[in-house]
Amino acid sequence: MTNDLQQRFQQVIQHIRDAAARLGKPEPTLLAVSKKHPSDAIRTLYDLGQRDFGESYWQEAESKLADLNDLDIVWHFIGPIQSNKTRPIAEHFDWVHSIDREKVARRLSEQRPAHLPPLKVCLQVNIDHEDTKSGVPPEQVLPLARAVSGLPNLHLAGLMCIPSRVQAAGEDETPQRAAFHRLALLKQQLEEAGITTQALSMGMSDDLEAAIAEGSTLVRVGTALFGERR
Ligand SMILES: *Cc1c(COP(=O)(O)O)cnc(C)c1O
Repeated sequence: MTNDLQQRFQQVIQHIRDAAARLGKPEPTLLAVSKKHPSDAIRTLYDLGQRDFGESYWQEAESKLADLNDLDIVWHFIGPIQSNKTRPIAEHFDWVHSIDREKVARRLSEQRPAHLPPLKVCLQVNIDHEDTKSGVPPEQVLPLARAVSGLPNLHLAGLMCIPSRVQAAGEDETPQRAAFHRLALLKQQLEEAGITTQALSMGMSDDLEAAIAEGSTLVRVGTALFGERR
């Protein structure tokens, strides 16, 4: 089990490295998405050098963060945020990738403890205009970015998206790549409007390469590292 995890970790790192080199792009940071996987698996990857981990549900993350509080992990919250769950997220995470409305951003800023640095946040963009998906519509990214930039205890780090999954792994990546390209353009539009950000949080187990091709700085990988979620 531990050996498998170690092997998959090395494969994912190599995959990212090779893809970036082949595409002539910078290597993105690997965010290990540990939702539905136990604390020991996180500790194993930590011991192998992994530092950034992502969780999607506070109810699940709470006990894992407590188990692992002896480690200097960079914790990323990547799941949907209910407004009554903002406080523990503001208190325990370093990054939030799933900001899609001002109310939640405002609460996170108000609840961020004063002794911690500003919470790094990405706006989650509903890049394919899907009814079922959370995220701010592309045309509302600029006003939301302006509002978030004005909040004292948040740092607007960038943009995140999850493209619609119209095909399985190994098939033509073009639709995903087009979606990632649109996210990169939105980041550029923010820049032209005077809002400079660093992060493009895009790419998961099945669409890593398309994301890297479009300039991803953070790939969020779960299944390819930890195996199928139970
Ligand atoms: C679960 C999840 C991932 C990881 O997905 P895999 O396909 O298992 O790599 C990435 N991003 C978000 C927002 C997720 O919820």
